[in-house]
Amino acid sequence: MSYFSDLGLAEPILRALESKGYNDPTPIQRQAIPALMEGRDLLGIAQTGTGKTAAFSLPSLHRLAADPKPRKPASCRMLVLSPTRELAAQIADNMKSYAKNLNLGVECVFGGVPVGKQARRLVPGTDILVATPGRLLDLIDQRALTLGRVEIFVLDEADQMMDLGFIHALKRVANLLPKNRQSLFFSATMPKSIEDLGKQFIHNPVKVEVAPQSTTAERVEQYITFLNQGEKQALLTLRIRALLADKQLDRALVFTRTKHGADRVVRHLSSAGIDARAIHGNKSQAQRTAALEAFRQGSCPVLVATDIAARGIDVSGVSHVFNFELPNVPEQYVHRIGRTARAGAQGIAMSFCAPDEKPYLKDIEKLTRVKIDVMPLPEGFLADAAKLPAPSRKPEEAAQDARREERDARGRFGQRGGGQRDGGQRSGGGRSDGGRSGGGRGDQQAHGGRAQGRDGKPRDVSPRQERRDGERGPVRNPLHTDRAERPEGERDGQQRRFRPRGAPGVGQHRNKVRRAG
Ligand code: AMP
Repeated sequence: MSYFSDLGLAEPILRALESKGYNDPTPIQRQAIPALMEGRDLLGIAQTGTGKTAAFSLPSLHRLAADPKPRKPASCRMLVLSPTRELAAQIADNMKSYAKNLNLGVECVFGGVPVGKQARRLVPGTDILVATPGRLLDLIDQRALTLGRVEIFVLDEADQMMDLGFIHALKRVANLLPKNRQSLFFSATMPKSIEDLGKQFIHNPVKVEVAPQSTTAERVEQYITFLNQGEKQALLTLRIRALLADKQLDRALVFTRTKHGADRVVRHLSSAGIDARAIHGNKSQAQRTAALEAFRQGSCPVLVATDIAARGIDVSGVSHVFNFELPNVPEQYVHRIGRTARAGAQGIAMSFCAPDEKPYLKDIEKLTRVKIDVMPLPEGFLADAAKLPAPSRKPEEAAQDARREERDARGRFGQRGGGQRDGGQRSGGGRSDGGRSGGGRGDQQAHGGRAQGRDGKPRDVSPRQERRDGERGPVRNPLHTDRAERPEGERDGQQRRFRPRGAPGVGQHRNKVRRAG
């Protein structure tokens, strides 16, 4: 008899768990399931990888199955909100497998794919709906869905939802939910702002915490290398090449701060003969799914991702995480390195720190209370780096870059100059980003809107702020920034906030196309 049956879960659920090979509940499951089966609200502090999907799914399925109700059109009994498409799809897949012996339907909706098909699937209603916030509200606005019959509400990855600017969407959802419901609220970190958000959803919750807040995964070996921005690509290529040759690398996740940065890294790795793919919000859903599948199956050992795209991705066997750029939010570092060392495995995190990123490193070490070991540049680095081939660019990427350069040069949107975004890579096809100068203006601009604050500390600037700065000096075209990625399925109102003055209509047009699917 497994411990799951001691928890009192229904027999069809136990059978499903058996076929998945789960024997014992994980700590969060042991703590959460009994309270949730009693119908209590829950505040869970846990990262993905702890088994939290099953922790909220199993008792919810048990309760829904124990009180069967006919499906009502355009409605659901359980709503799970997730910040990203990938995580939503992953949760829905898990729930389907846990519910396979029950008569409960699971649907999943997210942005980036046509809305019509999703709306049609909701016509007869479903028992469980997993959704990203933007697409959920689109469906509600189209009257394809009402939330009036939700009995169980789960908000997953609340801190990431906040980071992504979903706060207004969440407040709207909160107002549409029936008062009488069970609510579960999960977050990897619980700063005051998230706790306040939680208060809008949960009442008198049981609190479940599986790891001390913001503690870095203990099994991850962490290293930091100090170098110039322009040297990072060569170091990444050489390290991955050496690890692959020694058969020490199974799967590596590389984090870049921006979407264009991710593409650039893939081009460089590919030209050095390393099979790599990128996953970020500019890729179509089909491309993202294909890249993730290739990575999962091991046919592509390197996945280059932005934080948003990678959030919550559950791929076992990630042996290495590379932080090509350090995240400016220290909690993000914890999430990133948590992609490795899952399910008891060992993991290695290697971070690259340019001079302007040192304040970020300080914040990370303060939060994690870990002094990260320094790994020097390998011997003969400069000579080896010089031998690396130049990346080839796809014709459409070259054309896109040329158009962007041309626009920058013409100084549209009231800018002057701003044509150095790749630090020379584009003009000469040189083999390293930004040459050896490292951390030069071009590099800084290419890496996500970092500017120097008055205190000399790098700060993030909004596109609008960038433009204001630009009136004092050269900035880049905000419509073509390498800025950090936008949230999944972000809606009109939020997109417009980013539209710079002087670029009328461009954002709206894009939104129309997006919303029409
Ligand atoms: P999650 O934190 O929900 O993303 O889960 C992380 C991984 O652990 C997923 O691959 C689950 O399938 C797996 N998992 C969840 N619960 C258990 C369990 N009790 N025993 C073994 N594996 C589990």
